[in-house]
Amino acid sequence: MSGEPIAVYIHTPFCPSKCGYCDFNSYAMTGEIIDRTVRAIETEIRQSPEAGRPAKTIFFGGGTPTFLSGDQLTGLLRAVLETHPPIPGAEITSEANPGTVDMPKFDAMVAAGFNRVSLGAQSFDSSDLLRLGRVHEASHVAQAVSAARKAGFGSINIDLMFALPGQSLKAWETNLDLALGLKTDHLSLYCLTIEPNTRYYRLHLRGMLDLPDDTTQVAMYEMAVTKCAGKGLAQYEISNFAKPGHESQHNLCYWRAEDYLAFGPGAVGCRVVDGQRIRSTNLKHPLGYCEAVESGTNLACESDVLSAEDQAFERLMLGLRLNSGMETTGLTFDPAGLKKVRERGWIWEEGSRMGLTEEGRHFCSEVAIQLSPE
Ligand code: SF4
Repeated sequence: MSGEPIAVYIHTPFCPSKCGYCDFNSYAMTGEIIDRTVRAIETEIRQSPEAGRPAKTIFFGGGTPTFLSGDQLTGLLRAVLETHPPIPGAEITSEANPGTVDMPKFDAMVAAGFNRVSLGAQSFDSSDLLRLGRVHEASHVAQAVSAARKAGFGSINIDLMFALPGQSLKAWETNLDLALGLKTDHLSLYCLTIEPNTRYYRLHLRGMLDLPDDTTQVAMYEMAVTKCAGKGLAQYEISNFAKPGHESQHNLCYWRAEDYLAFGPGAVGCRVVDGQRIRSTNLKHPLGYCEAVESGTNLACESDVLSAEDQAFERLMLGLRLNSGMETTGLTFDPAGLKKVRERGWIWEEGSRMGLTEEGRHFCSEVAIQLSPE
């Protein structure tokens, strides 16, 4: 089977430990379950329902993909490359924890075909890292960037978080300056959100997290936008900044609400089957996932047919995040909501394109809700 190139996502669910704020499908497990899960993911990839369809991008996320051995990680990539041959120049990314990489692992990854690495730095402050529950130290980030460059990755991203417990505007500025000083090609900056079912959520309920107030959070974000622009990292999405030509092609597929294939425990894919767009989530726990793959039973724990309204809302929620805006042809807006977001100056409109103004970027979800018909 062939077809239009499609984005491919691989979820590796293991981490050295569970961070306090994390609500991703990740598990602090070791031993045989890791080998077994890697074998099951490889089986799932090789049995892809769209085998032969070319990959336009490939992205390994998690969890911590680099918690796997070099052989495990590159073996999984080989399975993807053989099942979904990449188009020429396809972006092939792995997320990496700076504490789980070294030169031999990076060399093996580049030799196998990875050309982009996304380093979860989160902060350069040792106290932040300790409180977040990260396993790496601040000094590991610069070492990892330098090793990634030596290994020959064509593009390097750093993830940073702001609005951390106890973080001042000055401390955030220091973090930003240290990150920008590493001169990576891409920076992703995320505001800490407190998600249910996390240790941080329980601490927050007890009033034990000293989070920066809304005004400070806005100042942190605006400082980041200004500083990134000053260093040649253009903002192209609410949380993402890149040198020209280094925008994340994989994430652009999500923001443009395109289809994607997904493999691994808890992986979420979205594709058209028999004329219907279906979003499907794999069994989340590695054990249940392995048993299902090994016995050839259904892997999905959720599967939803997306209605036209669902798809329109998703297009809006994701497309508005892009600085270049989105094509609105075929979308219907709530007239009162449209009037309101125009009056507030939250959107710009050029022909059939619409996007968020600087002010509007603080209200992305609100704009999407206002614009959506009842
Ligand atoms: S490294 Fe990432 S995926 Fe793993 S526990 Fe921490 S936040 Fe979650």
